[in-house]
Amino acid sequence: MDRSEKRHQKDIQKHVDYETMKLRKQAGKLRRSLKKTKGSGGKPVTEENWEQVVEQRKTRGRPSRDELVHQLRVSTDETPAQSTDVDKHAAIVIFVAGGRCRVFRDGQEIDCVITPEVAVRQQSALAVGDRVELDENRAVKAVLPRRTVLSRPDPNNPHRQRLIAANLDMVIHVVSVKAPPLRPRLIDRFFIAIQRGGAQPLLCVNKIDLLSDEHELSQLEPYRELMPIVLCSTKSGEGLEALRMAVQGKTCALVGHSGVGKSTILNALDRRLEIATADVHKGGTGRHTTTASTLYDLGEETYLIDTPGIREFGLWDLQLDTLRDYFPEFAEAAQWCRFNDCSHLHEPDCEVKRRVERGQISRARYETYARLAAELASSSS
Ligand code: GDP
Ligand code: ZN
Repeated sequence: MDRSEKRHQKDIQKHVDYETMKLRKQAGKLRRSLKKTKGSGGKPVTEENWEQVVEQRKTRGRPSRDELVHQLRVSTDETPAQSTDVDKHAAIVIFVAGGRCRVFRDGQEIDCVITPEVAVRQQSALAVGDRVELDENRAVKAVLPRRTVLSRPDPNNPHRQRLIAANLDMVIHVVSVKAPPLRPRLIDRFFIAIQRGGAQPLLCVNKIDLLSDEHELSQLEPYRELMPIVLCSTKSGEGLEALRMAVQGKTCALVGHSGVGKSTILNALDRRLEIATADVHKGGTGRHTTTASTLYDLGEETYLIDTPGIREFGLWDLQLDTLRDYFPEFAEAAQWCRFNDCSHLHEPDCEVKRRVERGQISRARYETYARLAAELASSSS
């Protein structure tokens, strides 16, 4: 394995969820064992074994590790995961502040301290959405493995990750087109962070009551094939039912620039929440801001997490040679590039660049890719 491949593996492993990590290990073992038995195809063909031999010949090329992971996932999905029993009794973190947190367990909210063992490991030791175990004094003594995460670099130390939330099924990036104006670059960055953390993305375009014609949505065109999009307005009520259905039974975080309407949407989805929005604070001293992530229980296994408004979104510990994996629309074209490991930046005979020229791949998305690649190259040199 060369250095870049090793780095790639490390990079992937750091960000895949726990279950996938386990499956990858199993798949690797399985794949190695397939290699060992490869020679056994030379056995004489008999009435009894001919079907097996034909089957083996068909699959002479070993399945890739990803194919095996897929097969294993399908087989484990059929039998419920053993950890669910533990998860049911675990407490879920709804708020973290300093050395304390508030958790939800068996229908009760409990204030807890975080034991030093948990706290000292790293700054992001605990996040909203974490499943935790409490000791007899109601202190958090352990954090259970996370299924997914959403993280960003710590503004004070870019090499360290800061968790925004954990165990999310879906991350809803809320944007508005006019006020505040749409920022496609932020969509691109969130999309990378969501893919790396393992949750599903959803783009929620709020305040569509402010739009006068359809052309104002043209900047969203490249995202239609990348993630589901819900257009909505908390003023007219349009799209709220679709949003309600999308979050049903899931744990979802709402992220985005402040002022796009995250808190208003949460209140619209469940009137009981009464989260403070910008309107409540009008005439007050400062702007309203959600300062820390908070989890709300909407019942029926639906949990929504409000997060602080994010203006800038750095990318945590990203490698130049894996950046292209987060632009799924390049993948098909990349098979036709002259070089296998084409970065789609300087190489001749690059199909990705060709399709950008032809308008088949969004130029805006490609430019984000090139800009991020340049950023990564300069930070690693
Ligand atoms: P947050 O910072 O993302 O939580 O944004 P808020 O929920 O505080 O909303 C910011 C402002 O946008 C408030 O004045 C809301 O009344 C307004 N707002 C929210 N949703 C809509 C909408 O669908 N249409 C319009 N026109 N304004 C909205
Ligand atoms: Zn290329």
